[in-house]
Amino acid sequence: MKHLLRWPGLREVGERGLLLLDYDGTLTPIAERPELALLPPDVARTLRTLSRRLKVVIMSGRSLRDLRKLVGEKGVYYGGNHGMEIEGPGISFALPKATRFRPLLRRVSRELRERMRGVKGALVEDKGLSLSLHYRLVDPKREGEVRKILEEVTGPHRDRLRITEGKKVLEVRPNLPWDKGRASLLLLRLLDRGRKLLPVYLGDDRTDEDAFRALNRRGGVTVLVSEKPVDSSARFFLRNPKEVALFLQKLEILSGEAEKKR
Ligand SMILES: [Mg+2]
Repeated sequence: MKHLLRWPGLREVGERGLLLLDYDGTLTPIAERPELALLPPDVARTLRTLSRRLKVVIMSGRSLRDLRKLVGEKGVYYGGNHGMEIEGPGISFALPKATRFRPLLRRVSRELRERMRGVKGALVEDKGLSLSLHYRLVDPKREGEVRKILEEVTGPHRDRLRITEGKKVLEVRPNLPWDKGRASLLLLRLLDRGRKLLPVYLGDDRTDEDAFRALNRRGGVTVLVSEKPVDSSARFFLRNPKEVALFLQKLEILSGEAEKKR
């Protein structure tokens, strides 16, 4: 894995990049509670400039509504719920079949909330097309209990739902063949239109690995955000959201130069 900021190919990203950015742990440090992960104003400003010159997508497990609220830039594309819902200039997509799961997910989330009442710090987040069970604030000794309750509640729906895992979060999603990788390929297809876009994906968590694998096959620039070297399919790395911000600033300069040359 190479450090992205030392890669000479960055100029090309400034010319024809399709930026696909995860939110938590990539654009912002992971917060104690999800509502506390706010986008730094200078990053928001950089994203705004970049969205006028390149294509910028925020691809997250958060809901579309939540992402719009947190980022709030009109020129940016948003892939919410791991890309099951995508919106942005000229695009409005919802994964067919996924919406049918809403009532079941609502039921599961209600039951889960009820059962988690006795577990201090557990947080159930209903995101419409998926739900998150955050356990960052739970006593580590009780993690086993959290998993057991989740298994009990989702067990009866095992064939309709699947559970994925992130950093101190368990997620319940429709059991459909869809992930950040497939969503990224869809966006690449929809936005490319002969532009020969170069996809660049930045992410810090397990669900981002699907995107790394999918985009590696398309010659994409795949970037893991991590302080420690971990097992990953990404080709490049950045250490933390601060370095991600530096990368975006550098891209702001490079894309500006590319624009002048046109
Ligand atoms: Mg993340």
